[in-house]
This record gives sequence, structure tokens and C-alpha cells, in this order.
Amino acid sequence: MTCARRVFRCFRCVERAADRITGAAGPWFVCLAISLLAIGILSFFIVIQPTLPFPWLTTPFCVLIALNMVGHYYHVCIVPPGFVGDTGSPVRGGGFLWVAPPPRGGSRLNIVHARISRCRKCHDTRPERAHHCRICNRCVLKFDHHCPVTSRCTGINQCVGLYNERHFVLFMAYLVFATSTFTIFGFPHVLIAFELRFAAWTHPFPPFLFITTYILSLVLSLAVAVMLAWHMWGVARGETAVEAQDHEVYAKWAKERGETFINSYDLGTRRNLTLFFNVGEGGYPLYTLFLPLRLKPYTNGYAWAHREGLNRHRGVREGEELTDGDDDEEYGGDTGGDDRNR
Ligand SMILES: [Zn+2]
Ligand SMILES: [Zn+2]
Repeated sequence: MTCARRVFRCFRCVERAADRITGAAGPWFVCLAISLLAIGILSFFIVIQPTLPFPWLTTPFCVLIALNMVGHYYHVCIVPPGFVGDTGSPVRGGGFLWVAPPPRGGSRLNIVHARISRCRKCHDTRPERAHHCRICNRCVLKFDHHCPVTSRCTGINQCVGLYNERHFVLFMAYLVFATSTFTIFGFPHVLIAFELRFAAWTHPFPPFLFITTYILSLVLSLAVAVMLAWHMWGVARGETAVEAQDHEVYAKWAKERGETFINSYDLGTRRNLTLFFNVGEGGYPLYTLFLPLRLKPYTNGYAWAHREGLNRHRGVREGEELTDGDDDEEYGGDTGGDDRNR
């Protein structure tokens, strides 16, 4: 066994151990996230909200933000990402806060049936943009990443894919808005709590808990804002986290051949955003972005909107498409050896 192969196997062992740890810790992450959300909302409405100006305006606004934050977290945990082979849409009628699908027929989109390939790990046939999640051990439609902080009721970690990616991004957006608001308007209160002027602390909420919540809120507002910006950058470019890595490789190969790589899923920033959130022409009304509703994506994952005149990426040749990582015996090498965090 070559030295490089030994090193590779060692890395794979570490990677597998990390998967098992995040898998086991998933339900705890969810409990922690729910507790933090509850404490944050309680402390905001007990301490900060009563001191805000124009309560007739700010109270309904703050309630709406909190509802969206909790609602989208609930959806991203409960709605399956869209596993290849599951029959029917995971977003069905009758669910909590579900609304009927919009007619997409009126929109002028170049919808192309997805190319089908076979996964080398679970051997399922799958459409393009689906990838294998090694933690779920299944292929997921428009797989983005596996998130240990979201979990289904079963306590199993949850993937972010076609059916829950919208909720994931909206949850982050509302979380950033809520924590930023908490940080800005909670500042005078945290000063009082820090000075330990307990006589001046008249709120029915423990000051030490408020200080802890404030610090967490400050850290979260910055960290999640960076994550949100990175995700939105990908959405605006019409690519998932996995595809962003693939596209870098395609662009490099195309450049070496003197060609230019064009991502055929990139329909322009505005169209990419409206398709991702499924609003605007042929989709749901824009105001649905401000409500914690469970909505369908524009596709079932077996047909995708491509840039006009392109039915596949430009600059990528037939058979060059990168696939998920191969088994443990392979590393690097051929086009299937791009072993990444899937
Ligand atoms: Zn698979
Ligand atoms: Zn997964």
C-alpha cells in the first residue's frame, strides 16, 4: 500500500468518526437549538419588546419575525429533503401551514428533463443534481449539505435538499434579523445587567440568563450572517454547495482547453432567486416570503430550468461530470474520485 493511500485511508477514518459523532449528537443539537430559540424569544418579549417605541407597530412586527423564525425551523426539521426513490412529494396537502402549489405553466422557462445516472454507493438511479449523502446513506434531490442542527422527529440528522432548502435559507434570514434586533435593542438592558444594578433590573427574567442570551445572540447574528451570505451567493449563481465545488473544477478544465465554462442552471441573479424561493412569475405571490408557509419547489427534481439555448453546462464534455466520492479504496485519479464532504 502506497504512503499516499495510507494517508488517505487515515483521513477517511477520521472523517467517518466525525460523521458518527455528528450523527449521534444531532438530536442534542436540535434540543439545544429549540431551547435557545425559546429562551431568546422569551427574553426578548419580556425584557426588550415592552421598551420599544410605537408598540402598536413594533409588537405585530416582532411577533411576525418570531413566527417566521420558529415556523421555518420547524419546516426545515420536518420536511424531508427529497430522497431519491421516495414516492410522491414530501410536501403534500393537509400539512401544517401548507398552501396549494402555484401554476408554473405561465412562466417562460427552458425546462429540460433531467439526465439519469446510477449512484455508485446506494445503486439507486437518480436525476442530475441529486447526490449521495453518506450520513443518510441515500441519494438526495438537489443535495446541498447534511446539517446536524436540523433533525426529523425521529432524531435522525437531516439533509438540506430540494424540498427544505427554501426553509433553511429563510430560517437563517429570520434568525439573523431576530438576533441583530436583539443585539441592538438589548444593548441598554445588558449594560444594566452587566453593572449588576439589580435594583434597576425590574424585569421578571434572570439578568445572568439575559447576559448569556445577549452574548449568544451577538455571536449568532455575525456567524449566521456570514453563512447566509455564502448560501445566498450560491443561490444567486444557481448552484448548490456541492455544485459550487464541481463548477470550480469544470471551469479549470474548460480553461485548460481554451473554453469557457457556463453553468446552465444559472438563469441570471433575479431569476435564480425567484426560482429558488418559487415566487414571482408562475410561482407563489411575493408576500409568501414573509409568512412561515410550507411551499413546494418549482420542480420535482426530475426536470430543471436551464439557461436559454443550453440543455447542459457549456465547457463540460460527455462523461466528464463529477460524481460523488468512490469507495474507500479509491482516491483522486479519475473523474469519479472527487471525494468531498457529501
Ligand atoms: Zn446514493
Ligand atoms: Zn444526509
